[in-house]
Amino acid sequence: MVFLSSHLSAQQIEWPDGKKAALSLSFDDARLSNVDVGTPLFNQHDVKATFYVVPASMQSRLAAWQQAVKDGHEIGNHTLVHPCSGNFEWSRDKALETYNLTAMRRELLTANEEIKAMLGVEPVSFAYSCGQTFVGKGRETRSYVPLVAELFQSGRGWLDEASNDPIFADMAQLQGIEMDGKDFEKEIKPILEGAIKAGNWVVLAGHEIGEGGFQTTKVSMLEELIAYVQAENSEIWMAPVGTVAAHVEQQRTKQYQGLEESLSLAATFDQGTKADKAKGDAQLYTGVSYDERNQAKPGIATTDVAIVEGEGRFGDALAFKKKSKAVVYYPSKGNINYQANNWSGTISLWLSLDPEQDLEPGYTDPIQITDVGYNDAALWVDFSDKNPRSFRMGVYGDLAIWNPKNIAPDENPAFTERLLTAKERPFGTGVWTHIVITFEGLNSKEGEASFYINGKPQGKRSISEAFTWDLEQSKIFLGLNFVGLVDEVSIFDQPLSEREVKLLYQLPAGVKTLIDTAGH
Ligand SMILES: [Zn+2]
Repeated sequence: MVFLSSHLSAQQIEWPDGKKAALSLSFDDARLSNVDVGTPLFNQHDVKATFYVVPASMQSRLAAWQQAVKDGHEIGNHTLVHPCSGNFEWSRDKALETYNLTAMRRELLTANEEIKAMLGVEPVSFAYSCGQTFVGKGRETRSYVPLVAELFQSGRGWLDEASNDPIFADMAQLQGIEMDGKDFEKEIKPILEGAIKAGNWVVLAGHEIGEGGFQTTKVSMLEELIAYVQAENSEIWMAPVGTVAAHVEQQRTKQYQGLEESLSLAATFDQGTKADKAKGDAQLYTGVSYDERNQAKPGIATTDVAIVEGEGRFGDALAFKKKSKAVVYYPSKGNINYQANNWSGTISLWLSLDPEQDLEPGYTDPIQITDVGYNDAALWVDFSDKNPRSFRMGVYGDLAIWNPKNIAPDENPAFTERLLTAKERPFGTGVWTHIVITFEGLNSKEGEASFYINGKPQGKRSISEAFTWDLEQSKIFLGLNFVGLVDEVSIFDQPLSEREVKLLYQLPAGVKTLIDTAGH
């Protein structure tokens, strides 16, 4: 079977020059060997590195540091006095346990000013001293990651074990892997090979640069590494942390914009029931019942459904307090880009419930999109009727085609083969689970639908029969017979790729991330 691929699926995170992974070399503390040994070596090979400096340590080699800036190396902030836990005896009189956020803010800004005065540059990259991200002690302990996120483009850790996923990574907590004392072939090369497979960004971190000794990155290792990265068919892009971070952010923005363009409905319930973005009618309606759905009023017209503040995946959520006869929906027209020929799209929402505890007996569809019924040109997810509940995706074309004799679902193979039961079921009280259906080529005889939970594929189904809608009658029903929370209902007019579904799952501020990006 051949499927049309979406224009979006070509827009993955791309590294420059078709490379497969990124690498940054970084060195901390402004050690003398950084400019005595390091920068001459790097300049000889046209390699640019990141140096996270403590300003006072640059004094005795100031001219060399100024030259390093001229040569294109990046200077990052590594605090003013290098405070660490007082468990390091040398840090007892500048222990992070005695700091608060105000003191840390002052320290970081002062370090920036001193670096500016000495070298004429303003750092955008930061490395946590000793890799520690806290201030204070016990109940008064605070993370200063948010402060770093506010003041810098990125913050790097120390003695981390992983490379950075360019989609997932929190820029304020980049993982930094130690290269001091390491050999290239046995220790560093495998990390780079892993990153090439994953498309990731490796940030290596070291201190001294020399032949060997405590906290020393070996010149021989660097020479082998540079030869490997600069080999003709190398798959690695090597650049300073700030350069790679800017590239990653630009790629993320591009992807967000690509997703936003295809977003036809987004309801976050953070400003009431009206959809945040709607290519059709943004109004939510309440129908008297499923059968009398056209006797509807705008807004929520039942006490069984309400917006609950602050309990959403992000912001507020739509709560279904008990199994209700009333139905709530957005009209399909415009909000889902129905096509009589070759129809594709994506449906996304978040659910929070404990299915066995919260649901009342009977089938329940957190989302169901149809003009007639669940088995007649419909897309939905449901929980089965009894405990333990299974969670399923249903994509059913015209009833008259797939089930001409209208045989009951239980004894009908045509029903079961269109149904897809989730492999994973991570639901629970206080837990949010991300649900996605992507569909492609419906109404083309080669239709296909995929089911994802928390960004992970659960399987695919083929749907060859037609989907015939009376578009004016079609509705995006939410919470049919459902008890629990629904948030971030979003519909796209493109079938998102697996990578894009993962991106959607990881949006830092939910679907608002997309809308805000487009507004800029
Ligand atoms: Zn340090």
